[in-house]
Amino acid sequence: MRIDEKRIQRLVEFQSDAPRVLSLYLDVDSTRRTKEEYRLTLRQMLKEVEQVADKADIQAVERYFDYEYDSSARGVALFSCQDKGLWEVFTLPVPVRDRITVARRAYITPLQDLIEDYGCYGIVLVDQERARFFLYELGDVEEVSRLIGEEIKRHKQGGWAAERYQRHVEAIAHHNFKEAIEATQAFLEKHQCRKLLLAGTSENVAVFRDMLSNPTRSLVIGEITLAMDAGEAEVRDKAYEAIEAHVRAQEQALVQRLIDTAAQRGPAVVGLADTLTMLQEQRAYILLVSEGYEAEGAGCTNCGYLAAQWIDRCPFCSAPMKVQEHVVNAAIHLAVDQGIQVEIINNSELLDSNGRIGALLRY
Ligand SMILES: [Zn+2]
Repeated sequence: MRIDEKRIQRLVEFQSDAPRVLSLYLDVDSTRRTKEEYRLTLRQMLKEVEQVADKADIQAVERYFDYEYDSSARGVALFSCQDKGLWEVFTLPVPVRDRITVARRAYITPLQDLIEDYGCYGIVLVDQERARFFLYELGDVEEVSRLIGEEIKRHKQGGWAAERYQRHVEAIAHHNFKEAIEATQAFLEKHQCRKLLLAGTSENVAVFRDMLSNPTRSLVIGEITLAMDAGEAEVRDKAYEAIEAHVRAQEQALVQRLIDTAAQRGPAVVGLADTLTMLQEQRAYILLVSEGYEAEGAGCTNCGYLAAQWIDRCPFCSAPMKVQEHVVNAAIHLAVDQGIQVEIINNSELLDSNGRIGALLRY
């Protein structure tokens, strides 16, 4: 399954001041929750935004889940601005984290991340004789080609003959690996894959990896132990695990970059107060938020200015402030409005112990 770039591009460019765009991500993975459970979550999420969302959008979402949605997907991403003719639904074979936003722009970072993270991976399964090539695309695996090299005949001989024969075997294996590498490069080019998983026994994978050219080796994001005759389902499951580990590692690296940059007084802030300030000065370019983090703050009744701590009057327009119940979600809306990258980070102790929110800044 490949997602049409044009649909994404349209979402990236779409803007509407009034009514605003409703973006919804819903985890509908049947291995994690029942239909009743996700329906309940959906109702709660829609209730959360009923003050700010356009009624037509809420109704469109309800209608979709009542009458149209077929329950085979693991995640749904949906964008609605009925008034301006926007309605985009993506049913996804990978799970998503629940999230709802109502903002001037569609909240597409999670969808873009999903396409980036689970989009296109090449998998090459090798041994000394053969290579099998698979494409992994958003949870689906398909074998696209096979290469059969020169056969290696195993002899049981002793002494000098065995040694010489061993050298002969190594030469054939080397030759076969070389052919497999050429085929790998052609395969990656043909399918425009920028990420590669190597599979096989750890010995074969190690030799194969060492023989790859530097540019191709730099595309390798993980290694999987697999038997040469593995079925597509096994390849898919093992690949998913390896990709998940890779994605988590990248998230952790992003958090590390945030914390290090902030510690060195570089262009980054951590904690709610500073992050809100920088967002409102439009200096952020990546917002990082711990999954599930929410807090109460203050919001200006006139200009919408957000503050982490209670203040009576807005520092910009002097209008009275009101309690802002979900100030973190409001910050995410603000970031979505500005079209910047918003990363919801799962299970990062480092971010959790550093204010649970932060931003990398443009300057
Ligand atoms: Zn104000």
